[in-house]
Amino acid sequence: MVPAWLESSPLGRLTPPAFFTAHNDEDMAVLGLMQDFPLIIPRLLTYAERFHPDTEIVSRRLEGDIHRYTFAELARRSRQLANALEKLGVAACDVVGTIAWNGYRHMELYYALPGTQSLYHTINPRLSADQLSYVINHAEDQYIFVEAMFVPLLENVLEDIPGVKGFVVLCEESDMPTTTLPNAMCYETLLAEQCDEYQWRDFDENTAAGICYTSGTTGNPKGVVYSHRALVLQAMNSTIGLEITTRDSVLPIVPMFHVNGWTMPYVAAMLGNKLVLPGKDLDGASVYELLDNEQVTFSAGVPTVWQMLFDYLEQSGNTLPHLKKACIGGAAAPRSMLETFRDVYDVDPQHAWGMTETTSIGSAPSTTARVAARGEESIMDAKMTQGRSLFGAELKVVNDEGAELPMDGKSAGSLLVRGWAVSSAYLKGESSKEFLPGGWFDTGDVAVINADGYLQLTDRAKDMIKSGGEWISSIDLENAAAGHPDLAAAAVIGIYHPKWDERPLLAVVMKPGRELDKQSVLHFLEGKVAKWWFPDDIVTVVDLPMGATGKVQKNALRERFRNYSFPGV
Ligand code: AMP
Repeated sequence: MVPAWLESSPLGRLTPPAFFTAHNDEDMAVLGLMQDFPLIIPRLLTYAERFHPDTEIVSRRLEGDIHRYTFAELARRSRQLANALEKLGVAACDVVGTIAWNGYRHMELYYALPGTQSLYHTINPRLSADQLSYVINHAEDQYIFVEAMFVPLLENVLEDIPGVKGFVVLCEESDMPTTTLPNAMCYETLLAEQCDEYQWRDFDENTAAGICYTSGTTGNPKGVVYSHRALVLQAMNSTIGLEITTRDSVLPIVPMFHVNGWTMPYVAAMLGNKLVLPGKDLDGASVYELLDNEQVTFSAGVPTVWQMLFDYLEQSGNTLPHLKKACIGGAAAPRSMLETFRDVYDVDPQHAWGMTETTSIGSAPSTTARVAARGEESIMDAKMTQGRSLFGAELKVVNDEGAELPMDGKSAGSLLVRGWAVSSAYLKGESSKEFLPGGWFDTGDVAVINADGYLQLTDRAKDMIKSGGEWISSIDLENAAAGHPDLAAAAVIGIYHPKWDERPLLAVVMKPGRELDKQSVLHFLEGKVAKWWFPDDIVTVVDLPMGATGKVQKNALRERFRNYSFPGV
């Protein structure tokens, strides 16, 4: 029976996804009298053009010079690009690949492709040739927009990607490389031919906007398909989780080819942040130069790039007077890195967790009032965790039988996540074992959650070391070792042991001019990890194998040490 006061209101039937609280099909729901305003990317662009047209976007170009323009100019050129895409015959639902660094032309693709209801497929240039042709074919890329320096990568796999109709090189006509790529066009020439008027249309916010493939540490990479709604909500959520304000000037070091640049290209349009894009130069000196010259207050990157910055700062004696916050994500941050930010450079470190399947961050390091009241070291302890679940990214930890474990900071199990920005399936329905009943996605991470709601990853399921039936966390062990003053980097893998099944081997990269003193490293570990976790051996390596996203590739490291056995075993 509908109450009289509702008779003039539109009524609708709730059709919640099956995994939410059960509803009776007969239940009627009153619809709110709010506008149906879609959460779509072109709306972000028109908003930015209207409300912060003069805000700068600064890019370091491949040519080495600094390019500056504004959100108004981004919007104008994105409209030209939308016209160019139409001219190329790129239609709604078509997928277009990008192989590009963080720069203004990539930004234009980030807006024009979803804005025309086609999809960007951001391709990681560090993929192997096999993986490169695999993802291009799997996503059915119609065109590929490619940075001039990556043209040879495509030439190398040209025979294996017959479905691609043409290639657009992100440069001026004068910089067009000589290439064997058929139908190769110059981006600037293509744009110059186009009118800068284009009417963005509205459409359903659940429309697909982009694709990014998982790192593919096992098997083939899998395609994650983002919706407009997920990207817009997630951009909004990142501002909350990472405490980015309208006054910040933002430098995403995390590449736009990896997990939507943690949505920073959309955050900046939403808040009106000056956006600084570093191009290909991610070494310490280049990053420092941008941080300093552009007075960047917020930046985000993986631990490897922060370590390169620290090495540069240590050598040069420079400091970070402008930077206020540094988000560290993508891999575990050692405590020494957080402390260096806080104590040496007066920067607030923000250790966040996320994955390709969560659109960007799923947890972030908010300091609750309760933690703050316990003092500075408690704040640092909380930052050492991967932070608290963001609203919309529900987290839980379960045992092997799927039963939820208590949030006690001790009970470790598989980390599951669900929410508005979490994948519900992979492209073409591949590999469904991660998608569990109730909308839960199995992250493959092993974690605990404490009573204050802070998530702490203890390992990737496949990187854990099982010694005598007990688990050793390779992450905790390598993070503890990484703080040793002679070491530039550290990674731990399990090596076969006849008695214990597996024991840890610590592989270290030495800082320039330092020699490995094994006893000193072991001594350093005392009190930081349990004695039985101590590595059975420590070896020096010239470098650690880095994956396409700047994380140590444990598989490749294990491969390097395939024939290794512990001394005396
Ligand atoms: P990707 O999909 O390539 O971004 O990789 C996601 C994986 O990176 C996660 O499942 C974690 O294993 C790892 N990861 C991301 N952020 C963190 C973090 N803050 N600490 C530890 N591991 C992380």
